[in-house]
Amino acid sequence: MNPLTRLAEVDWIPRQRLPNLRRLGLDTLADLITHYPRRHEDRSRFEPFPDGDSGSPVLVHGVVVKAAHLPYGGWKRGFQVTLQEASGGWGAQLVCRWFNMPYVAKMIAVGDQLVVYGRSKKKGRQTVVDFPEFEIIEDDPEAPRIHLGRITPVHPAGEGVSVRKLREWVWRALDVSNLIELRSIIPGADNSTARIEALRAIHFPESMDALEAARQKLVGEEFFSMQALIVSRRSRLDAMPGKARPASGRLLEALRASLPFELTGAQLRAIEKIRTDLAAPRRMNRLLQGDVGSGKTLVALSAALLTVEAGEQAAIMAPTQILAEQHFRTFRRLLEPLGVRVGLRTGSQRTQTGLELSGPPQVIVGTHALLHDPAELQNAGLIVIDEQHKFGVLQRSKLSARPEAPDVLVMTATPIPRTLAQTAYGDLDVTILDEKPANRGKVITGIRHASKLPEAAAFLRAQADAGRQAYIVYPLVDTSEKLELKAATAEFEKWKPLLAPHACAILHGRMRPEEKDATMRAFAAGESAFLIATTVIEVGVDVPNATVMLIENAERFGLAQLHQLRGRIGRGSHKSYCILVPGTEDVEAIERLQVLEHTNDGFEVAEADLRLRGPGDLLGTAQTGLPQLRLGVLPRDANILQDARDAARAIFAADPALNSPEHSRLREWLDAQEARLAAVAG
Ligand code: ADP
Ligand code: MG
Repeated sequence: MNPLTRLAEVDWIPRQRLPNLRRLGLDTLADLITHYPRRHEDRSRFEPFPDGDSGSPVLVHGVVVKAAHLPYGGWKRGFQVTLQEASGGWGAQLVCRWFNMPYVAKMIAVGDQLVVYGRSKKKGRQTVVDFPEFEIIEDDPEAPRIHLGRITPVHPAGEGVSVRKLREWVWRALDVSNLIELRSIIPGADNSTARIEALRAIHFPESMDALEAARQKLVGEEFFSMQALIVSRRSRLDAMPGKARPASGRLLEALRASLPFELTGAQLRAIEKIRTDLAAPRRMNRLLQGDVGSGKTLVALSAALLTVEAGEQAAIMAPTQILAEQHFRTFRRLLEPLGVRVGLRTGSQRTQTGLELSGPPQVIVGTHALLHDPAELQNAGLIVIDEQHKFGVLQRSKLSARPEAPDVLVMTATPIPRTLAQTAYGDLDVTILDEKPANRGKVITGIRHASKLPEAAAFLRAQADAGRQAYIVYPLVDTSEKLELKAATAEFEKWKPLLAPHACAILHGRMRPEEKDATMRAFAAGESAFLIATTVIEVGVDVPNATVMLIENAERFGLAQLHQLRGRIGRGSHKSYCILVPGTEDVEAIERLQVLEHTNDGFEVAEADLRLRGPGDLLGTAQTGLPQLRLGVLPRDANILQDARDAARAIFAADPALNSPEHSRLREWLDAQEARLAAVAG
C-alpha cells in the first residue's frame, strides 16, 4: 500500500476512532509510521517486584489478585489493585493506586495480567506505586510478537486511542506499507534499505543498540530537512536585491559626543557591522543578541541615526506599549538635540515631536502592531525589532516580501546557546554584545523561604529608606480578566502594610495601556518606591534606580525568564539584590533556582535551562517557522546537527537553485514547506 493512503480508507482502523487519531495528527499510514514512540519498555525480561522505594521507575509484570475501591470519602476517590508476580513467584506483592480516575476501576478485574511502569514507594509494610502507567495483557495470538517478550514501544496515545491499540496499528502500518515510498529527501540516500530498517527499528527494535542506531539515522534526517529549509530560505533572501544606504557618520559622532559615557567595545563593533550592512546593496537580516543590560537600545538608536544620515526613515518596534513609550522617551531625549524628528505610533497614541512642522518623522517608534499596518512603514529603510523572542519568522518573512525591502535588525536578550542559535536564527547573521557597560553594580541573588517574608520586607523598606526602588513580581496562575484583577488586588493588599510608609504602585496586564504607561512613568520618576507587577515588566524596562527584585513563587518561572526579570535591576551603579521566594519545598525546584545564585551570565543560565527543561521553551515553532523537532534532542545531538548543516550547505553551494535531477525531491519538499508557511502567515 502507498503510505499516503488515508487511514479512513484502511479497513482495520475502526471508523469511530478516526476523529481521535486525527486529534493526534494521524491521517495517513505515513503519519502512523512516523508517530515515534515516547519511550520503549524491555519486555523481554521483567524486573522482580521492587521492595520499598525504587528511585527510578520500574517495569514489572503481574497478575491482579485483589481489586478494591479505597475507603476514603470526599474528593479522593481511589482504586487499588494488588499484584502477584506473573512469573509465578509467591514473593512480594505490589500495590497500585489511582485516585480520581474512575475509569481505571472499570478496566481492571481480578485475574487480569498487567504490565506496570512506575516509581514505587514504601507505605507502611506495603510497596506502593501511585498512578502507574499500565497495560492489560490480553490473550491474543499476536501479543507475543507485538506486545510482549520484546522491546516494546510506548507511543504518545490519547483519548479513545490506547497505547496498545496504537502499537498494533503502527505494527500493521509498517507491515502493509511500501516503505520505499517513504524514501529520504536527502540526495543520494534514496531507496536506501538503511532508512527502511531505521523506520522499523525506531518502533520495534531487536536490541537497544539497534534502537539507538535507528534514532541517530532518523535524527540526522530530521536535522537535514530543518537545515535545508534554513539554508534555502537564506539563499533566497540573499538573492533578492536590496538597497545601498551609505551613511556619513556625522550624526553618530554628534550622538557619541553628547553621551555621558563611552560606548562599549562590543557596541562599537556591532554599530560598525550594521553600518557596513546598511551601505551594502544587500538586505540586512541581522540579529543582535545581548544579555539584559548590555546596551542594545543604543545600538538600535545608532542604526536609526545612520539610516537618517542616508536620507531614509527608520522604525523601531517593541513588543509592548510600555517599552515603545520608554524607547520613545529615550530616542527623543537623545535625537531631538541633533535635529532629528521622532514620532510615536501605538494603538492609542500618535505623537510627534521635534521640528514639528518641517515634515514626517525620520524615526518612528511603535509596537509590533505597526507591522500589520504596512502604510505606516512604507518609507522605512530600516526596521528594528526589539526583543525578538516575542516575534516570529512569519512577520519577518512578511517584511521581506515587500519590493523595496528594508534592512532588518532584530534584537533579543534571550541568550540562545550556540548549539541552538544555528537552528533558531538560522537565516539571520548574528552579532553578539558580549560586554557589559563597566559602571554596573553587582547583582546578588538569594533564595529565601516564604516564612522569611517579614525579614525580606524589612530589607525592602531599608533600601527604600536609602532612596532605592524595588520590584515585587508575582506569577499569574490564571489569565482570565477577573481573576487577574483579583490576584493583583490581593497582592497589593498583602504588601501595602508590609512596606508602609513607602508608596506602592501596581502594574498588571488588564490595565489600559495609558494607565500602564502612567504607572511605569511615575515609577521611573521615583514617585513610588515599590512596583508590584506581573511579568509585564519582563522585557526591556529600564529604571536604573531600582535595585531590588523580589520574585514570589519563583519556581513557576523558567530560569531564562527569571534571568530576564532579574535584568531589570543592576542597571545603575548601586549594588542590587534579587530575592527568589519559592512557593514549594521541592528539592529539585530549589536546586534549579540555585543556578541563578551561582551565575549572572545569561548564557550559562540558558545552558542550564536547556539541560533541565529541554529546548521547548527556547524554540517555539511560532518563533522559528520551522517544523518542531520530534526525535532530535539538543544539545545532546549537536554533532548530528553539525553534520546535517554541513551536508545541507554543501548541496546549496554546488547547486543553489536545486536544478539537478538528484535534488528534485528535496526541491519539491522545500517548496511544499514554504507554501505551508506562507499559508500560515496569510
Ligand atoms: P538592554 O540591552 O537590556 O536593552 P539597554 O539598552 O536598556 O539594555 O541599556 C541598559 C542601560 O545601560 C541604559 O540605562 C543605558 O542608558 C545604559 N547604557 C547603555 N550603554 C552604555 C554604556 N556604554 N555605558 C554605560 N551605560 C550604558
Ligand atoms: Mg532592551
